[in-house]
Amino acid sequence: MDSGYDPNNLAPYACSDKTSRGRIYSEAPPVHRNNYQRDRDRIIHSAAFRRLEYKTQVFVNHEGDLFRTRLTHSLEVSQIARSIARELHLHEDLAETIALAHDLGHAPFGHAGQDALNRCMKNYGGFEHNLQSLRVVDKLEEKYADFPGLNLTYESREGILKHCSTKDAKQLGDLGQRFIEKNQTSLEAQACDLADEIAYNNHDIDDGLRYGLITINQLLETKIFRDQYEAVNKQHPDISQRKQIHEIIRRMINRMVVDLIETSKAQLSKLNLQHPDEARSQKNYIISFSEEIREQNLELKRFLRQHLYRHYRVQRMTNKAENVLTSLFDAFIEEPNILPPEAKKHCDQLAIKNKKTGIARGIADYIAGMTDRYAIVEYERIFNPRQLSFVNLIP
Ligand code: MG
Repeated sequence: MDSGYDPNNLAPYACSDKTSRGRIYSEAPPVHRNNYQRDRDRIIHSAAFRRLEYKTQVFVNHEGDLFRTRLTHSLEVSQIARSIARELHLHEDLAETIALAHDLGHAPFGHAGQDALNRCMKNYGGFEHNLQSLRVVDKLEEKYADFPGLNLTYESREGILKHCSTKDAKQLGDLGQRFIEKNQTSLEAQACDLADEIAYNNHDIDDGLRYGLITINQLLETKIFRDQYEAVNKQHPDISQRKQIHEIIRRMINRMVVDLIETSKAQLSKLNLQHPDEARSQKNYIISFSEEIREQNLELKRFLRQHLYRHYRVQRMTNKAENVLTSLFDAFIEEPNILPPEAKKHCDQLAIKNKKTGIARGIADYIAGMTDRYAIVEYERIFNPRQLSFVNLIP
């Protein structure tokens, strides 16, 4: 395997400074960095990135110190995406950027939060985490003197916007065009998308086992787990269970990544693409698993849906999380004056443009920006009658 990475020696189908569609607000080129490194650095220094540490996907943040958070998940996705990018001579810095930014727009409490907020926003244009991630980097991060948001390159923004409805796409100009024309995204973004999938399926197994929600015996139903379980047992029959689980999972990740690289490499050499746009205009993703691993991965996802995400203990937490966010949203919509001043100002500004939906969108921005624990504290502040005292007036 080729392990070197040279951003000046990329495949013709890789994105690069040379083929970049640039930034919304033009800027002088960076010194000693390429444009995607600059994008990555802006993401790492953003507030939304720091908040990923206290947001979760499946398990609520404070329930255990060993569970993945969105921050560690994003780092795992970035590690896998970079391995894929490097081996395929794609732009590793762009892949890293997209991976680190891909979950920035997630509401607290994982998918439960997204679903609850989407229901609350039903009459105000809905809430979708991919669109929200783009909103974070384009508008909500306010720190640069010369432009709103982080002013990322087109390619980073394209990668962040993984999905989009045709209705929303029509509002997004250049960036929405590919959803209307049914084109693909860059190969770097495709690598991140699959890396995301590899990362969360495997770490959800790990977290699920650790928390006792699923068992090894149950997991043996799935071929991809069974294969690695048998290999590990044969080679190391006497290791501890913790080591055994880690060995199985690391081999599963490896199996998937190697398969993905080999399948994609074969595709790329067949197509002989000469420009990143040639990858975008394909009918399907070029970065993909073999048929065999695709099937096994689907089987694993079905398993996780049935045994982990629908586990009654997860469902209880999901239910509670939805109640917290829905109650917060309803309280703010009913009486926007209980919003903290900065959030209120943001809502008022959005209301100037659109009176009907502006305030609701501002509230959704405020709630989506919360960490799990902040949402719980805010809920306590607003609904716990024991906190009904003038002590609350002291800032
Ligand atoms: Mg993700």
